[in-house]
Amino acid sequence: MDTKNLGFDSKLIHAGDFEDAFGSAVTPIYQTSTFAFRDSKHGADLFAGREKGFIYTRIGNPTIDALENKLAELENGYRGIALASGMAAVTTVYMALLAQGDHIVCTSAVYGPSRGVLESHFAKFGVESSFVDTSKLEEIEKAIKSNTKVLYLETPANPTIALVDIKKASEIAHKHGLIVVVDNTFCSPYLQRPLDLGADVALHSLTKFINGHADIVGGALVAKDEEVYNKLRKTMVYMGGNMDPHQAYMVIRGVKTMSLRIDRAQESSMKVAEYLENHPKVEWVKYPGLKSFPQYELAQEQMDGPGAMISFELKGGYEAGTTLMDNVKLALLAVSLGGVETLIQHPASMTHAGLSKEARLEADITDGLVRFALGIENVEDIIADLDQALAKI
Ligand SMILES: *Cc1c(COP(=O)(O)O)cnc(C)c1O
Repeated sequence: MDTKNLGFDSKLIHAGDFEDAFGSAVTPIYQTSTFAFRDSKHGADLFAGREKGFIYTRIGNPTIDALENKLAELENGYRGIALASGMAAVTTVYMALLAQGDHIVCTSAVYGPSRGVLESHFAKFGVESSFVDTSKLEEIEKAIKSNTKVLYLETPANPTIALVDIKKASEIAHKHGLIVVVDNTFCSPYLQRPLDLGADVALHSLTKFINGHADIVGGALVAKDEEVYNKLRKTMVYMGGNMDPHQAYMVIRGVKTMSLRIDRAQESSMKVAEYLENHPKVEWVKYPGLKSFPQYELAQEQMDGPGAMISFELKGGYEAGTTLMDNVKLALLAVSLGGVETLIQHPASMTHAGLSKEARLEADITDGLVRFALGIENVEDIIADLDQALAKI
């Protein structure tokens, strides 16, 4: 079925579907590593690209292909590539678009490993990187050098929930001939479509909202044009970061309810953010749906909803943070986001515990900072859980 003109929710269900011999209602799992050719000519035609079909699962597979086509339609891109993890998507982008002597400009508060791998492995191969506050457009312009090839953005970025104006940042980058990559994990294509705003590649950790059930790890890239797509595809095939057919099946199953899940989690997030903003033990709350959010207007313009991630600062610092962690009962103490379970995390004692206090503060990880990722439980239960735990501080 041609799904191009259907609405977003219909695309979630039907885009990328193909008809199989038995009329299967859902995309079947082609759990095979290789595909037999009919004869020598068929094999030759497949390898030469004269005929469409499948050769070997690292290169392509019907189940994975269905997911890639669905994601490409959701992001309004040319084509998609599914990968083993979000980080496989990140490293594939770097590997495909950067060479020795090149330079990349990134959001400073980018996902930790996305920065770490540039500073360790890619630095080793002679790739330079700069990390700047990309919410300030002049910082982007200042950081671009003659050897800069890629602008890598994450918006909203963690834990500051700072937004980047994708449209304006892309205009600046394109003026200098750069390729713009946006990590769209925190929004999903339901809330933000970077390619429509001028970016060249949308990147996802499928682990989060897209799969949505905290039961697999996966990643994806969607390119706006054929040239960039071909570079990315070739790199994925060479580096071997491909997705597995079973993993693809799980994501296809999970993504179908994405808009319902996000609608519910967002509705609850707004109520929780308002509750926290009025709580005497809370110093501040950052959530793009609050009028007090510093980039409220940009959020309204660029995103179709404020998402389901809240950052807040407790007045009691480190100890208040650990007390809250030790007393919540419904929220799981866990990293990640975008699943149906509500997750809570205290970066100073958990994800960023390995850093010195100075390094933590430089990354805006204050002692009382809490990251809250809303699930889809009853909001009354989520608030009651926070309320009883906050009372223990
Ligand atoms: C989780 C995450 C990643 C990495 O994805 P994995 O699936 O864990 O490899 C990248 N970017 C963001 C914003 C993430 O939240």
